[in-house]
Amino acid sequence: MEFFETLQNVWTVVLQYKWLTALVIFGVTSFVIYRLVDFLQYLHTNKFPKPDDIKITDDAFKDKKRRKSSRSMKTIWKGASSWGGQLVFITSIPFLVHWCNQKGITDGYVYMILMGLSFLLNLMLSKLFPLWTPVRPYACRAFQNEKTLQPGNMAFHFWGIVSWSVPAYFFWDYFQVNGWIGSVFFIVISQLIQVGLFIYSIKKAAIPYLEYPGLSDNFKKNMQKYLKEHGMRDSEVGVLRMNMGPNAFATSLLGYKQIVITEELIQGYKDPTNPEYTLQLSEDTIEAITSHEVGHIKHRHVEKGITMGILISSAVTIAVYHLFSADPSNYVLFKEGTSQQLLLYWGQSIFNTMLLYPITFMMLFISRRKETQADTYLLNSNGCKNGKDFFHQIRHIAPVNNLSLWHSCNGTHPPAHEREKRMLEWEKEHCK
Ligand SMILES: [Zn+2]
Repeated sequence: MEFFETLQNVWTVVLQYKWLTALVIFGVTSFVIYRLVDFLQYLHTNKFPKPDDIKITDDAFKDKKRRKSSRSMKTIWKGASSWGGQLVFITSIPFLVHWCNQKGITDGYVYMILMGLSFLLNLMLSKLFPLWTPVRPYACRAFQNEKTLQPGNMAFHFWGIVSWSVPAYFFWDYFQVNGWIGSVFFIVISQLIQVGLFIYSIKKAAIPYLEYPGLSDNFKKNMQKYLKEHGMRDSEVGVLRMNMGPNAFATSLLGYKQIVITEELIQGYKDPTNPEYTLQLSEDTIEAITSHEVGHIKHRHVEKGITMGILISSAVTIAVYHLFSADPSNYVLFKEGTSQQLLLYWGQSIFNTMLLYPITFMMLFISRRKETQADTYLLNSNGCKNGKDFFHQIRHIAPVNNLSLWHSCNGTHPPAHEREKRMLEWEKEHCK
């Protein structure tokens, strides 16, 4: 009997809060599209022919194909379980609050329990799929292989939750709906601190390239000249010894900036799934890669990314404050007198889950555009330094191209084969 009453109540909420229903439909649809695209990627991978412009044995190629195909199949389940986990969490919040209230736990403690649970959930799920957390403050992502239970990752998720929940709790208490101003202010401050700390720690870890023994004097001379012409200091380019694979990235905040290249990029990188291949770049190519990173700094890509992140988080926060300001008892299962902050928390969790895929899609679109811009900068300033070779070599490690639809949904950078082709054509036209 009570069950049917609950169902009836849920239906009343669906009719009364049409925006909430629309948000959920939007979120579920985007989730389904992502999984469908995963499946298409799986089919595409299985029939992808060996490219004829790279040197790889049939066996190695077959093995790469098999791995990629099984990876895309796994993504379907990983994505489904991580998003499903979040869905279970948001639907169980009203029940959890109800249960805690019955046990006599006060709302302030319930709020803390919810924060703890989301922290654990985020930690667990971050391994399965990059959750929507504050924008990571760098241009080229380098930490994809990060371990879950690692101080950096834990601190990141802890901060993501605390920096939203704690201000929201107090600002609502004092200012109710108008408290969003305080929360938004806090989002801005929190983002700036986060990026500042990130740049500081990267600067501390990087070995200035002029002091790095693995680079030739000729490279250093060229680089010094290039950096001077492009308004960068020598101390702002360094080498990172951190086991992050062959990579480079740039980060900046209003003139406080750093470019790093990883040691593997300079010394060579053994392909873990193909012992016959080692990625080995010439110093010219490394110089070209550095020019790409200078491009990120010149275009202020990190600052733009932070601004975008602040705008999105703020818009969501304002929406949560306004849309979830009604009496909690209007929503099924929240009893009369439940503190408004618990409803806010619930609202924020719903938004996070429902907007995960749409925001990911949009952010990745922007990210790929930035990468193309940085490549343009490379071509215009150092286009004849064989930058294309990096992509040519990367294609030996990842020889199976993604389905372009899948790449649009998941790629942080334009496809390597397209970037290589673009640079090849540019070279033909401009270099001797
Ligand atoms: Zn880049």
